Amino acid sequence: MRPALYWIRRDLRLADNPALHAAARAGRPVIPVYIHAPAEAGDWAPGSASNWWLHHSLQALADALAARGLPLIVREGESLATIVELIAETGAEAVHWNRLYEPARIEHDTRVKQRLKAEGIDAHSHNAALLHEPWTIQTGTGGDYKAFTPFWRACRRQAEPAPPLSVPTDLAAPDGARDLAGAVVPPAGITAPLDALDLLPRVDWAEGLRRTWQPGEQGAQDRLGGFMETALADYREGREQPAVAGTSRLSPHLHHGEISPRQIWQAVQTQLARHGAEGDRLDSAEMFLSEIGWREFAQHVLYHHPEFPDAPLNPRFADFPWQEDPGDQLLGAWQRGETGIPLVDAGMRELYTTGWMHNRVRMVVGSFLVKNLRLPWQAGEAWFWETLVDADLASNSLGWQWVAGSGADAAPYFRVFNPIRQGERFDADGAYIAQWLPALAGLPAKHRQAPWQAPASVLGDAGVTLGVHYPHPLVDLKESRQAALAAFEQIKKGA
Ligand SMILES: Cc1cc2nc3c(=O)[nH]c(=O)nc-3n(C[C@H](O)[C@H](O)[C@H](O)COP(=O)(O)OP(=O)(O)OC[C@H]3O[C@@H](n4cnc5c(N)ncnc54)[C@H](O)[C@@H]3O)c2cc1C
Repeated sequence: MRPALYWIRRDLRLADNPALHAAARAGRPVIPVYIHAPAEAGDWAPGSASNWWLHHSLQALADALAARGLPLIVREGESLATIVELIAETGAEAVHWNRLYEPARIEHDTRVKQRLKAEGIDAHSHNAALLHEPWTIQTGTGGDYKAFTPFWRACRRQAEPAPPLSVPTDLAAPDGARDLAGAVVPPAGITAPLDALDLLPRVDWAEGLRRTWQPGEQGAQDRLGGFMETALADYREGREQPAVAGTSRLSPHLHHGEISPRQIWQAVQTQLARHGAEGDRLDSAEMFLSEIGWREFAQHVLYHHPEFPDAPLNPRFADFPWQEDPGDQLLGAWQRGETGIPLVDAGMRELYTTGWMHNRVRMVVGSFLVKNLRLPWQAGEAWFWETLVDADLASNSLGWQWVAGSGADAAPYFRVFNPIRQGERFDADGAYIAQWLPALAGLPAKHRQAPWQAPASVLGDAGVTLGVHYPHPLVDLKESRQAALAAFEQIKKGA
């Protein structure tokens, strides 16, 4: 039987993988190939933290394939040319891949499919990443949704997601597959030469990432299992507290396709069936599923508005009077977590150390950047893109345009988060501040959110000198809020 190519991108798993399943149909030999072609992501090639993740996730996939007797072929170069080359080398009769939904990918993949079909090759793409592909959910008049609640209601009216696919049991490799260096590789036991892709940082800043994450399908399943057992039932409450492991932390695994939303959906249903679908447990489960819904909504918005990552959805905001920031002084202080506003700094340090930040804190640091510092949301979006292990074009754009008030179903611009109040509410015992800003850990909890308001004796007892151990606030929260509202007045008509 002639083999099929399984072209891998952000679907780094074996289970519930429609492209792999179709390639391996009826015991046909499969050639799994990862083609490194970051330029095909257009202006949004993965950032450093994503690359770190990708390296380790590819390694985990290579190991899982090797355990089943399949080598992972890793190549660099233009995808279409490489696929054509591989077909010539291996005599493959078909190519299968799972779809991506970013505008540059859609354009690229359409060309690939057309070319392969024109050459008489059996080319198929599949959905592995979403419960509902963006074009399948439409308003009554056939349009796209601009608000989450009706979008999610429309999703819920669709049939329940199909059960996830299992790992094909009869995976078989053909003879003669070649590795990155072009050498023929034996059918099993191969470690792909990933170092050649240069995905890892040259100066090692990834210690915190290594301590926090286990990239790969097994890591994703372990996270899912742990979350189901310990946090799903209390998600409604737990999800708001950044110091508590109350959310799933599945976002980088979902982004890299190490787990599918169908698998998550099924795990939630199993949990409800086992422990009872009622009361707080049901509310928490529904709320968690609706977060998976926000991910789908982000893809829906991006699909219908390809300019979404760069331009405000509400065009009024194109003229927003942002603040001048010579030498990126304000931006730099925000990036380094040196604004003197503890909740903002704690979040930025959590991000830099672990590649992830709690959602509540993402909203707070975003609001601070866009409103108190009045810097463009695109600057925050770019920094998140570089530093998040879950950096996702659709969700990141949605998050930043939500914060900026310019997006789909966004927070109104005049809602300026007060980081002190947010900290008092969601980090009442100051545990999050103490974790990420050890310099402030000696302060009593009630002074950790605003140390500049603490009496000198309290600061002295805690060994904190502002300006030495921890910065003075970069801006006055009240004045900067007023300035933001005044700036908003300038563009308000029609905003
Ligand atoms: C400014 C800003 C930028 C963001 N950038 C990203 C990003 O680049 N990538 C990303 O995955 N999320 C992003 N988010 C959304 C959200 O913060 C993360 O998805 C969430 O914190 C991930 O943690 P979790 O897996 O524990 O989430 P959980 O609470 O356990 O939620 C489960 C899953 O639902 C999805 N989800 C949850 N909230 C959202 C949301 N608001 N929008 C879209 N999907 C959501 C994620 O896939 C998440 O893994 C951003 C939010 C903001 C405010």
